[in-house]
Amino acid sequence: MKIGFSFSLLVAGTLAFYQSHVIASVAIDIFDYQEISAGLYVDPLFTAEEQAQIASNTVAARNRIASFYGDLTATPILIVSSSDERSAKFFRGPLDPGRTYNLPWNQYIPIAPAGNNIDVLAHELVHAETYHRLGFLNSLKSPPMWFIEGVAMQVDFRESRARSYISQGHVLPPVSSLETANQFMSGDRALNYAAAKVEISTWLSSGGYMGLFEFLAKIRNGADFYELFYANAM
Ligand SMILES: [Zn+2]
Repeated sequence: MKIGFSFSLLVAGTLAFYQSHVIASVAIDIFDYQEISAGLYVDPLFTAEEQAQIASNTVAARNRIASFYGDLTATPILIVSSSDERSAKFFRGPLDPGRTYNLPWNQYIPIAPAGNNIDVLAHELVHAETYHRLGFLNSLKSPPMWFIEGVAMQVDFRESRARSYISQGHVLPPVSSLETANQFMSGDRALNYAAAKVEISTWLSSGGYMGLFEFLAKIRNGADFYELFYANAM
């Protein structure tokens, strides 16, 4: 009982730091969303066919990640809404296609209509997997933003401005200028995503690469991010 009470206090105390869109995601059980498979909550306004499509897109997204990086171990909560209005309570400000909220006990992924596809699902699921494998405290302090976004971009095949910047050979910013979330989200974001994507794909194809999940395990165990990353980028 005592442990349960302390844990509840911890949860309540942690949630006090978050805003209503995060709290709504954590409290998904109080809404009318239906859990159609483990951790997958869908808006009841979707038709049965649409719900089945979401479930199969989620499986396809997980399979895409598994074949690229290896098997997934995170168990995030996905929350898929049928309209921008229904999505709004899970996002702060203008809607993103999807977001991943990293909390001490799990990750929560609201998905708006624009993100209801395999690319965005895979992108956000990589964020959840990265945070899960790093552990909560390490994920707060360790990897730079270009790394977090770059690993997710590898399984995100959307036709985007970032993609055309890469294919057109645009000059991309150095990732050293994209360390923090603020740096990453300012200026022309598509250029930043493009730079992150290229940095990671180059790293992944370099000869000394050990695999993303092994890399994350080493960071979790205390290795220095930059030492390890650049030791393996040839
Ligand atoms: Zn992302």
